[in-house]
Amino acid sequence: MERIGIYTGTFNPVHLGHLRAARYAREMLRLDRVLLIPDGIMPHKNLPQDSADAQQRLAMLRLALAGEQGLEASDLALRREGVTYTWQTVAQLREEHPDAQLFLLVGSDMLENLHQWRGVDGIFTEAAVAVLNRGGKDEQQRLRSSLEVLSQKGARVTVLDNPVTDISSTQLRRMLVFRCASAFIPEKVGTFIYENGLYGTDRDYRNLPVEELERAVVGLLKPNRVNHVLGCRQAAVELARLYGANETDAARAALLHDVTKALDGPLQLTLCQEYDTILDDFSAKNPKTLHALTGSLVAERIFGENQAVVDAIRCHTTGKADMNLLEKIIYVADYMEPNRDFPGVEELRRLAYTDITQALELGLRMTLAMLKEQGREISPESQEALRFLTARGEAI
Ligand code: FE
Ligand code: FE
Repeated sequence: MERIGIYTGTFNPVHLGHLRAARYAREMLRLDRVLLIPDGIMPHKNLPQDSADAQQRLAMLRLALAGEQGLEASDLALRREGVTYTWQTVAQLREEHPDAQLFLLVGSDMLENLHQWRGVDGIFTEAAVAVLNRGGKDEQQRLRSSLEVLSQKGARVTVLDNPVTDISSTQLRRMLVFRCASAFIPEKVGTFIYENGLYGTDRDYRNLPVEELERAVVGLLKPNRVNHVLGCRQAAVELARLYGANETDAARAALLHDVTKALDGPLQLTLCQEYDTILDDFSAKNPKTLHALTGSLVAERIFGENQAVVDAIRCHTTGKADMNLLEKIIYVADYMEPNRDFPGVEELRRLAYTDITQALELGLRMTLAMLKEQGREISPESQEALRFLTARGEAI
């Protein structure tokens, strides 16, 4: 009896994580083939701007799977009109393969809501469910409670112990804009994306007018960081006006200062590798602080920013010795922008508008105190920054 795996998703775009998961499922479940089926219009899911259309997503899947034994791209869901529901896909495959054993591959992140999917009873009758491990916090805990609910509904569920995919399509789209995605997509898919200018890769991000720069940056941030960055822009421009720094540079540096913040540690390291940047010991051990460096690299190479802007982004997290006015402004604005709320922020705000250097020093001291309290390592740059201010007698 033929054993068929059903792997649906947006595949926007397909990446090596999908391929690894599909291969793993095929092997572990001894499937004759796995069908990778891009969804048409997703219920409750609007695709991000500049996305590939359905035919392009299918084309990329075909490129990715060419020569892969037992993995096939299928346009089954795209041939249907309107919204895509998984139960329809399962029902149609059942009709086409009345005797096959069907296995629906579902990411563990979808499991919690699976019992509420439309037509789920039909899915459970026709197909066994194989859960692909997506990793993440409290994975085991969440799995256990979901499995209980599903077994009450009569689902036949297998949990696969596949190696966790280290990239999501959302992250991949960011890496594509930063031109650092080659480690995560088959080469032919990468070529297709750049040739067709998908996911914003056809845009020239250099020297954008500031309002357009804002829109581009917002598209690269996690939604919960947007207000911080806009607040930082506002504070930086106010401070620049007050102290006579270049307001445009202040706005641009503030907008871009966290542009790579959405990338996790491994992706930060990947970006450094792709940009041929050699890391010092501290950065290599503390990839979480790397977004200042990677942000400055992206500001320079992708956004074509001037050296003053690049330098200000570079030291916005740690500070450094002998910071210039713009660097101080970005450091302080990041710390006290209107959305910040922590004990001591009022004092920092007051100082920011009276003496930017004293505000910088207070910020550095607060950061060092916090790192010490948390038992975390303090970067050499922060220590040098403070030493410099103390030696100059600029200290409070
Ligand atoms: Fe930051
Ligand atoms: Fe920030």
